[in-house]
Amino acid sequence: MGSLTIGAFARAARLSPKALRLYDELGLLRPARVDPASGYRLYEPAQLPRARLVAWLRRLGMPLARIRVVCELEPEEAAREVAAYWARVEADTAARRDLAAFLIDQLSEQADERLTLGIRYATRSDIGRVRATNDDSVYAGARLLAVADGFGEEGRGAPASAAVIEALRPLDTDVPAGDLLNALDEAVHSADAALREIARSDPAMEGSGSTLTAMLWSGSRLGLVHIGDSRAYVLRDGELFQITDDHTHVQSLVDEGRLSPEEAASHPQRSLLLRALHGGGVAADLKLREARPGDRYLLCSDGLSAVVPVQALRETLTTSADPEEAVRRLVDLANDAGGPDNITCVVADVTG
Ligand code: MG
Repeated sequence: MGSLTIGAFARAARLSPKALRLYDELGLLRPARVDPASGYRLYEPAQLPRARLVAWLRRLGMPLARIRVVCELEPEEAAREVAAYWARVEADTAARRDLAAFLIDQLSEQADERLTLGIRYATRSDIGRVRATNDDSVYAGARLLAVADGFGEEGRGAPASAAVIEALRPLDTDVPAGDLLNALDEAVHSADAALREIARSDPAMEGSGSTLTAMLWSGSRLGLVHIGDSRAYVLRDGELFQITDDHTHVQSLVDEGRLSPEEAASHPQRSLLLRALHGGGVAADLKLREARPGDRYLLCSDGLSAVVPVQALRETLTTSADPEEAVRRLVDLANDAGGPDNITCVVADVTG
């Protein structure tokens, strides 16, 4: 086979004439000779392997200078050079993948924060029809909702629940962004420390303590901290979901399958707590949730949930025009059911 024209050589090498002209200009593959009269590039069949190698290396993304080096090497050395190049590419890709993941996280977080959901809320706390004191405490602000149900000797529950709420309150104004659970965890520990301190300075406070169910908002996320038998519910798409677990003796029997939920509701020891804040260390549940515009949250003490069936809670939350109407109707329902305990609730609507 004699010299090949650029067209014939291009077909044989499965490259375009344009690519061959480029390789010539870049010094990667010179024609065997150029016809002095016509200026046509002429190639030798022996140049085919090199032409194909150049094409493959370019498809690999190898820079031209490095291709030039590889083409001059013996096959064994060329193989090592290609392997080294590819190891480099993979390392770079891994580093870029990490950077991309980091950027995706960072931008998503910013997007979350820009999606600042607002809340409209109302609270009501009522002594009920039987108790002599109201031992519940409640707080509702733009970022923090909290219900605490105190217990202890006569009149000692109220200061306990008030101390717990007091320890949480600063979160409403200065929560570190993106660190909801940490902030809640620290606040609960300081609430527990406050109870320990109260009991130390006033022996009559010994044995008192409080439940706590609280939500803290940042952007579209909410952190939920929970200990005891107060509850949080969310009404979403017409369904009511309880989003806390009761830390009670009867709930543990239900979980073990030894009691039905119906039996638990009327069990004489239904308010016996397994966990609470009492200055003896903290074992609170912490959860992060996504809030959606249209969600309606309810936080309440057991004075509501123990006497008003969940169907009535759902019905009231679904048909109340606003949080104010909802809390008023809920407290009325509990009192209509005898009001055996203090009744406290917070209702919050998430707005876009
Ligand atoms: Mg109670």
